[in-house]
Amino acid sequence: MDLVANVESFPKPGQSVIGNTFDVFPGGKGANQCVAAARLGADVEMAGMVGNDGYGETLLNMFDGEKVERGNVFVAQTSTSVAVILINAQGENQIAAIPTANYAFGAKELEKVRNAILGAGLILTQLELKLEVVGELIKICKKAGVPAILNPAPAQRLPDEMLKGLDYITPNETELELLTGLHAGTIDSLYAAADALLSKGVKCVIATLGKRGALIADKSGKKIIPGYRVTAVDTVAAGDAFNGALAAALVGGKTIEDAVKFANAAGALAVTKRGAIPSLPRLDEVESLFSISKK
Ligand code: ADP
Repeated sequence: MDLVANVESFPKPGQSVIGNTFDVFPGGKGANQCVAAARLGADVEMAGMVGNDGYGETLLNMFDGEKVERGNVFVAQTSTSVAVILINAQGENQIAAIPTANYAFGAKELEKVRNAILGAGLILTQLELKLEVVGELIKICKKAGVPAILNPAPAQRLPDEMLKGLDYITPNETELELLTGLHAGTIDSLYAAADALLSKGVKCVIATLGKRGALIADKSGKKIIPGYRVTAVDTVAAGDAFNGALAAALVGGKTIEDAVKFANAAGALAVTKRGAIPSLPRLDEVESLFSISKK
């Protein structure tokens, strides 16, 4: 759950400030990405954990409203994970994320979702769970031949073992730099960073580049798929919209290139609206933007 306060300026240590607005929004990368994929027509099941509190209930109801199957969203004997977000008048933010229930999801819960994983057309995961849980999940997917997309956010370094044989990784530029230790400013340096991940055994790197679109790199070559021109009002959840859309498109049988064009359209539409879940686009909007790139 995102707890968002707008303030004129951030308080200094020991200082209190009077804020302007306060809102509570369902969020979290996993939830956002699930809803993004479900709104684009995919048959989505969420696995995760909420707390035994009102926020947990709100999130479970939100999944029902978005037609996300949530039989594998467990209730932890702790509070729902929250992100406490301060936004100042310049639109900058300060965020403290407290992963209480997310980190209560462990080996026992993963075992309970094993059958759902094995029956899935594709798995999409990110790093708001414990790293060892994500590692184990990817191992199960590799062993069973279930394609997996890892969105390596929030940014952190990853063990080589996790990357070897991974089907898709979807870093943004900051994450790409952190994962590879390489600067990724120019096209050549982006390509070099993507090569570094391919050489660790990732099969396909799809790096998101903000308004520039996304890079696809695999053994057949490297290519930038340009983004769509839109008026950006709030970039929150662009990456989540992109990842949910990418998963929906790949599982729906699109080629990688078409799936990335479709995901670029979803990411672009998400930046035209405020908020996370409220900004996630619907299928007709994405299809009409996507059809422009097919003409
Ligand atoms: P993140 O939100 O994870 O930092 P990006 O900023 O790379 O990721 O955005 C994800 C995707 O959303 C991009 O690859 C692109 O398709 C789309 N996108 C983001 N910002 C814009 C923008 N200003 N204009 C058009 N598309 C955008």
